[in-house]
Amino acid sequence: MMNVPTRPAVIKPAGPKIEDMKKKVIKLAGPKVIRVEAPERIDPPRRRPPPRQGGGYQGGGGGAGGGGGGGYGAGAGPSEGRSPRGGSTRRRPQGGAGVRPSSGGAGTGWSEADLAEREARLKQSGGYLQRRQNQMRSSAAASQSAAKVGGKVSIAEPFTIKDLSAATGVKGADIVKKLFMQGVLSNINSGIDSEKAQEIMIDWDIELEVVEAKGAEEQVAEQFAERDRKNEQARGPIVTILGHVDHGKTSLLDKIRKANVADGEAGGITQATSAFRVPVQTGSDEKFVTFIDTPGHEAFTAMRSRGANVTDIVVLVVAADDGVMPQTIESISHAKAAGVPIIVALNKIDKEQATDGNIQRIMGQLAEHGLNPVEWGGETEVIKTSATKDIGIQELLEILDLQAEILELKADYSGQAQGTVIEAKPEGGRGNVANILVQEGELKVGDFIVIGRAFGRVRDITDDHGKRIKTALPPVPVQISGINDLPDAGDKFYCVGSLKEAEKAAEQRRDRERLEHLAQPKVTLDSMFSQMANNELKEILVVLKADVQGSVDVLKSEIEKVSGDEVKVRVIHYAVGGITESDILLANASDAVIIGFNVIANSKGRTLAEAKRVEIRNYQVIYHIVEDMRKAAEGMLAPEIREEVLGHAEVREVFKVSKVGAIAGCYVTDGIVKRDAFIRVTRDGVVVENNRKLDQLKRFKDDAKEVRSNMECGMKVAGYDDIKQGDVIECYKSVEIARTLD
Ligand code: GDP
Repeated sequence: MMNVPTRPAVIKPAGPKIEDMKKKVIKLAGPKVIRVEAPERIDPPRRRPPPRQGGGYQGGGGGAGGGGGGGYGAGAGPSEGRSPRGGSTRRRPQGGAGVRPSSGGAGTGWSEADLAEREARLKQSGGYLQRRQNQMRSSAAASQSAAKVGGKVSIAEPFTIKDLSAATGVKGADIVKKLFMQGVLSNINSGIDSEKAQEIMIDWDIELEVVEAKGAEEQVAEQFAERDRKNEQARGPIVTILGHVDHGKTSLLDKIRKANVADGEAGGITQATSAFRVPVQTGSDEKFVTFIDTPGHEAFTAMRSRGANVTDIVVLVVAADDGVMPQTIESISHAKAAGVPIIVALNKIDKEQATDGNIQRIMGQLAEHGLNPVEWGGETEVIKTSATKDIGIQELLEILDLQAEILELKADYSGQAQGTVIEAKPEGGRGNVANILVQEGELKVGDFIVIGRAFGRVRDITDDHGKRIKTALPPVPVQISGINDLPDAGDKFYCVGSLKEAEKAAEQRRDRERLEHLAQPKVTLDSMFSQMANNELKEILVVLKADVQGSVDVLKSEIEKVSGDEVKVRVIHYAVGGITESDILLANASDAVIIGFNVIANSKGRTLAEAKRVEIRNYQVIYHIVEDMRKAAEGMLAPEIREEVLGHAEVREVFKVSKVGAIAGCYVTDGIVKRDAFIRVTRDGVVVENNRKLDQLKRFKDDAKEVRSNMECGMKVAGYDDIKQGDVIECYKSVEIARTLD
């Protein structure tokens, strides 16, 4: 063996050869006969007595060689059937499945006409089938080699286990099994995140290279990002109104809108575009300010979570008779997280409670939340307004216009249009309509458009006064029809060169949505950790909710203290109370994690967090939060989860039973409640009792070990009788923390 050179695992040609390529072409056009004949089976012949007269093929086999070998002996097909010795045969093991007329022609007993007909048939079908088979062969060969010999394999993100299997040649079932061993339930169609896939493939010696898929959708977006901006001009600002409920957002919007209505138009105005423009006269110039017509940070953040930072300026409405309230603070956090400047409208200035003292107090509150008023030497404009008495509206518009100038907002007025969906709905007679904001380029009737998951051709354009127009320039809110599906608020739209291009991009978007739905949480403290290890992340963002103000303050400063030179930890929103939908939207839009201290999420919040794949981490010990954040920030090790929430039950009724105490009649809303697990009692999202056990868990009169969702049950919490109707009981179990190796 000494002199035998080792044989390389894979022998590769040095490069493509022109001759080879030519040969390939010939092969495709050539022996199609072979390909198509293969599937035609010939059944194993039945034994029959040999005919008296040998020879003389009688053609029972038919043109394609099937049909059971004709009337002759044990021969497996035409060629054998021809044997003059008839039944004296050697049997073919697979019943003659591979029978092929070797060269055609008279020797096979087929007529010229038969052959010509077959040739024609094969010419038609052979191309596709052969190509398909070649494709399958080559992918099988590639995967074989990857799975067998290891090495580097590229795959485009996002992908399912099936795709991973196809790319690497590792059996899908094996991947599913491996994931199962790691405690992850999946099936062949599940999405798998790239890091997990890379980790798993190490076992097969495969170095998985995940490339970011640049499909039609991204390509279109990229083209627009790199477009040659031929006619760039200043544009007016796009404004969203935020603020606490009842502080006057809707009234203010109405007033601003009405100020814009020309006399003849009053009453006839159709507010159809989810946004409207108002003119602002500055000197001889008339400029426009565009207002988004859905006030409140839910819509604002929902749009932002789709990557649509449409708003240039936020008007924060604060009622002068009320001051800064929880939703005001939320709004400030949302606007700041989006990096959008804030102008304050101190509304209801007409009310008698709007005294100087009160106004100064509110300014103090604003300053406390980082909005130091200009009047106090700060940077935040505070305009005193009254929506009912029409005070300060014009001043507000002028300030908005001025702010836009400072921001140097620009748009390209030439080329194909691009923008964002504000709202979409089906409308009788017109099909799906979308209210959109043109942000770049010129939108024209007849343009091919890709708009989120939908595509089509712009059939008509309506402006914010309900008038049909032919073209729209930025930043104009319009309504369009002619699209095949409903896009979501915040989706981008692009006008493209052909319907085909639009369709392809929309289709890809749908695929992506499907995969995203299947994948694991988007942002977790763990995933942040690995991003940091790759130097991709320099900041950990946190939304912090806690049971009392004292905890909020302590936690905020403790968490932010964790920041090091390399990584900053920043709390983008902090407040007292349970975790709400608004917190989840904010975390989702900002790629933040939510930390709850002695609080839990309400049921809507939990559903939303699941849908949006936002991580909520609940803690009862401040030290644990700080410890986990530090570990994450220092990139030491992925923090472990300390407990697993099993389910929730709502207390519907409380019965006081003498000698027993308070029995809670409950309804399990999600998950499962277990008799021997831990429970905590929460009221309005805040934990009131922790680390308790159940004395009793009953289904009707019987003791139960566990009760599943959508079922009623009775509970007696051990040593706790203060339970109240409306409380939510969270059932959880402690998870053992893996020991670290330090
Ligand atoms: P939103 O929940 O923030 O949209 O608040 P609304 O616009 O619905 O207003 C809530 C209430 O405050 C309504 O009854 C309005 O009439 C009233 N309101 C709004 N603006 C003013 C104002 O400037 N002055 C007074 N006195 N009342 C106002």
